[in-house]
Amino acid sequence: MEDVSKAMQQLMSQRHLTANYRQLMEKVYADPQVQAFYHEHQSELAADVLDRSAAKLYEYVTERAKVAQGGETFAAGYEPQLIVSNHLIDVAYVPTQATQEKQAQQQLRQRVRSIAMPKDIRNAQLDDFDHDESRMEALMAAYDFIETYEASPHRRHQALYLAGSFGVGKTYLLAAIANQLANDGFSSTLVHFPSLAVEMKNAIAQNGVGDKLEAIKKAPVLMIDDIGADAMSAWVRDDILGVILEYRMQEELPTFFSSNFSMVQLENEHLRVSSRGDDEPLKAQRLMQRIRFLAREITMIGVNRRPQ
Ligand code: ADP
Ligand code: MG
Repeated sequence: MEDVSKAMQQLMSQRHLTANYRQLMEKVYADPQVQAFYHEHQSELAADVLDRSAAKLYEYVTERAKVAQGGETFAAGYEPQLIVSNHLIDVAYVPTQATQEKQAQQQLRQRVRSIAMPKDIRNAQLDDFDHDESRMEALMAAYDFIETYEASPHRRHQALYLAGSFGVGKTYLLAAIANQLANDGFSSTLVHFPSLAVEMKNAIAQNGVGDKLEAIKKAPVLMIDDIGADAMSAWVRDDILGVILEYRMQEELPTFFSSNFSMVQLENEHLRVSSRGDDEPLKAQRLMQRIRFLAREITMIGVNRRPQ
């Protein structure tokens, strides 16, 4: 196999090149990666490739040096790579390792859609979840769900209804489940239910209820956080919550809940009475049937972990 630098020397002696250019190109041709590429692909390359692709090889070596020094490059976040194109050598730009990691991170974030949730849920991890005895059951159930769901995401999986007082870590656990699912390639949507109710009321004026509701209804995994925290109007209960639950039950889509209320309390103290004060036990019962179909209740006890 012909040595690149020898070929180059020949090439340069045939031409009247300036000393400056010669020096520059000698460095380019001596570059170990240029040499390796040339040798590896020689059979696919034109005989006069070193001459005809000189500008590309020069671009490759200089741009790569800039990336290595962290300088401003032709395409930020990308690095040059030699490729064969039409029997000549060309330069393609591919994302750097750092860019690839950043893109993966972004993709991961996009798998967790959150509506009116606190920002710090992004960092919630199952590994960091404090599993004293009172929280162990919830944590185990979370792991069980993740395992069975990921093994067959299109089958029916009963999710969890996390009941427990303020600050025990219900929201944290839901977020940690969502982040773990994202990590494994599955999308979920977390909604703070009281805020959603307000948002929906505001959306009526702009005719925006339909689209928002549609997206939530169809989320592959839905987590309804803090259900029961605010008094619900009959409209929110029947036309928002009711519609979401009906769809998810029909389609057997995993749906989590968190609440300061137990299921029994939610039915009797919350869903039964509309914000106008009407007592509607049958409506409450129907909603609870759906919630029970979708999720099983787990009580979380423990100290309030919120910073006081
Ligand atoms: P809840 O939703 O039950 O009211 P949160 O999930 O909001 O409670 O938790 C209350 C606070 O405690 C939050 O600031 C949360 O980040 C933190 N927290 C909850 N559980 C844990 C945990 N296991 N490890 C570390 N921090 C936690
Ligand atoms: Mg909460």
